[in-house]
Amino acid sequence: MGLYKSRFCLSAGAVRAQQGVLTHEKNGLEIMDRVEVLAPAGNLPSLKAAVDAGADAVYFGFRNATNARNFEGLNFSEAEAIEGIAYCDQHGVKANVVLNTYPQIEDPSAWYDTVDMAAKYGANAVIVANMALLKYAHERYPNLGLHLSVQASASNYEAVNFYQKHFGIKRVILPRVLNVPEIVALKEKTDVELEVFAFGGLCVMAEGRCYLSSYVTGVSPNIEGVCSPARHVQFQNEGEKLQTRLNDVLIAEYEQGEEAAYPTICKGRFEANDHIYHVMEEPSSLNILEMLPEVIEAGVASLKIEGRQRTKSYVSTVTKTMRQAVDAYYANPERFRAKGSWLRTLNQTSEGSTHTLGTYQENWQ
Ligand code: SF4
Repeated sequence: MGLYKSRFCLSAGAVRAQQGVLTHEKNGLEIMDRVEVLAPAGNLPSLKAAVDAGADAVYFGFRNATNARNFEGLNFSEAEAIEGIAYCDQHGVKANVVLNTYPQIEDPSAWYDTVDMAAKYGANAVIVANMALLKYAHERYPNLGLHLSVQASASNYEAVNFYQKHFGIKRVILPRVLNVPEIVALKEKTDVELEVFAFGGLCVMAEGRCYLSSYVTGVSPNIEGVCSPARHVQFQNEGEKLQTRLNDVLIAEYEQGEEAAYPTICKGRFEANDHIYHVMEEPSSLNILEMLPEVIEAGVASLKIEGRQRTKSYVSTVTKTMRQAVDAYYANPERFRAKGSWLRTLNQTSEGSTHTLGTYQENWQ
């Protein structure tokens, strides 16, 4: 992949990154920039924890099916959104509102109402996947930032530029399928900002197109906003073992003392070829720290931490660690190394207590 510039063959922007700044060009102007640390907020305490831990931006959803973390007890009421955005404003932090599920024909009003609320309460941007909503937000609120959700699965420059041309998107959240050379190649063909996942749970399917749960529950995360709806989840003791089920389908069985995961099909332990194992995906978290310079120097604008469903303590710990790592990079890009203490801290919050560089280091497609 000839377009890829390694750390030791740096682009002009990366050279300036070594001096403590990143720049990008827009309309012939060189604009100084620094990669953003973007933290998840499943509720107001987590939002405040993210801000206090040094996030540059946060993202959250309203308490309904308009976003893909539609868990009981999670997300924001209108009053909490107003308070959260005010807290962000006081601290110079951007607040992005997620509406990344697909409106249903019977009643799409919640999705349009959510765009209206985000604009009314002063959010920095809305994160949207559906074209009708993109059109609505673009035409109705031209000053509201429009970020293309990962759920839209735009992973090449033609797709990204299409959304920019027709809906004026400012940023695209890239699916977790690209390696660094591919991100570099994409960046060279678009001036849309790139947001990439830096830490958190992995999704093994093409994002926005996963129908795994619908085979078992009749609903998909793209519509219901959650991979395993709580009403279908069962935890049952069976003798010495704990079983997790989704709509009566056995997803995993745990020995005494073993930590049981929330049952999602992609991370289930099933029997295949006479073995019981994680057939689709071993629980592990994406963690880009060991490739942080390469990812920043690829020209990304934002490093996203996954996990709106996780605790306030998770949000605080991961945001703080990512903040330290990004600051350490800018302090001395050439000598940056991922500290063992950062990796250990993050591993403690990881699914399965392990981490992976995911597709960032892969050469396959
Ligand atoms: S079921 Fe698994 S693969 Fe499908 S969307 Fe959910 S996390 Fe991703």
